[in-house]
Amino acid sequence: MDFALTEEHKMVAKMYRDFAEKEVAPIIKEWDRKQQMPPHVLPRMAELGLLGVCIPTRYGGQGMDYICLGLGCEELEAVDASLRVVMSVHLALAGMTLFQWGSELQKQTYLPDVARGEVICCAGFTEPGAGSDIASIRTSARRNGDVYLVNGEKMWISLATKAQYALVTVRTNPDAEEPSQGLSTLFIDLKSPGVTTGDIHGKLGVRAGSTGWIAFQDVRVPVENRIGEEGEGFRVTMSAIDNGRYTVAAGAAGLLRACLEASVKYAQERHTFGVPIAQHQLIRAKIARMAQDYDIARLLYLRSGWMKNQGIRNTLQTSYAKQFATDAGFAAASEAIQVFGSYGFSDEYDVERFFRNTRGAMIYEGTSEIHTLIQAGYAFGDRQDAALRCELPAHDPAAWQETR
Ligand SMILES: Cc1cc2nc3c(=O)[nH]c(=O)nc-3n(C[C@H](O)[C@H](O)[C@H](O)COP(=O)(O)OP(=O)(O)OC[C@H]3O[C@@H](n4cnc5c(N)ncnc54)[C@H](O)[C@@H]3O)c2cc1C
Repeated sequence: MDFALTEEHKMVAKMYRDFAEKEVAPIIKEWDRKQQMPPHVLPRMAELGLLGVCIPTRYGGQGMDYICLGLGCEELEAVDASLRVVMSVHLALAGMTLFQWGSELQKQTYLPDVARGEVICCAGFTEPGAGSDIASIRTSARRNGDVYLVNGEKMWISLATKAQYALVTVRTNPDAEEPSQGLSTLFIDLKSPGVTTGDIHGKLGVRAGSTGWIAFQDVRVPVENRIGEEGEGFRVTMSAIDNGRYTVAAGAAGLLRACLEASVKYAQERHTFGVPIAQHQLIRAKIARMAQDYDIARLLYLRSGWMKNQGIRNTLQTSYAKQFATDAGFAAASEAIQVFGSYGFSDEYDVERFFRNTRGAMIYEGTSEIHTLIQAGYAFGDRQDAALRCELPAHDPAAWQETR
């Protein structure tokens, strides 16, 4: 493995950093307080080409590799988690799933608009009664000729009220022997009659992000909008989540870095007992821990990105990366508040927002408990990677950046 970043990696990371620092950081506090997404975020990310970074140019993307995706997520979450969430749901959960599982016709039809951000996507797995236990999803899709009739509700869906399309896991076979075998995936136009959406208010964190619900009442979805075969929905969903988790891991590394940088700066400025608090050993220990955790989190997500580039399955490695970075991110944000003392307890400083934002990442894309179970399953040998009919394509620089 070679983790040396190329000039292209550095250039892409800078593009994300410039956007986040110049165009969002100055106004993020105001929008976090309003609990609304800044209106320029989605159009500007689309305009800059950030929303299709690791999709080949022939499908409207930038043709960069998966490490670029991780680096971008790190830069975005170093400013605010809501920006990284856009990458996680629009690109990793929805766009990359179309790329991995879609037919050539579906890719040609939908991917260019998605990769260019002309169509914003969300991903609906969670329901009021089903989160960690994906196999218990109840939203039904009953086939009637060449359409599915979809009924049910999805809950806690990022970008629910901003997106034009949703990648949705539905139950097509209520009688399947194994509940997980009765699921399928549909790509649903949210303008279809029978679809209603709304926002969830009163969230602890990611307040400048959009999180909501989607209800389906007798929604007619053409059979040609099914992604993958009927009954393949569980696998499609799990491989989507493998990609989503990678972006959450990389984002949490960015949050760790932001906590570290803010704490180092403040510790050098704040004096107690006649010296900067940076000279107190107990403060130095907190900083050292943040620095170490950032390094580990970054190495773990870079390894996953490298494996994705090679076309190597990385479910376990990405689980390590996601759980480590999000748990360590929460600890770092809490310690950053401690370094700041009372000032850390107010929204005058970013660390308060980091602390609230980091909590959700221990819940979505697999709770910390679910990741522990996954890792133990591999360790005991009762969990193995089953080969997928459609694996995530390895990065191929020449083919992905060919001019059209
Ligand atoms: C800000 C935010 C954004 C989100 N965005 C999306 C999105 O875009 N799309 C989407 O589909 N979902 C999204 N979610 C939902 C998220 O993925 C789910 O909340 C998550 O999967 C957990 O499901 P749950 O909340 O139903 O918890 P549950 O599954 O009910 O779990 C409750 C508790 O029980 C524990 N638990 C469950 N099973 C076990 C077990 N077998 N052993 C031990 N402990 C267990 C869990 O770890 C947890 O602590 C989002 C959530 C948040 C907070």
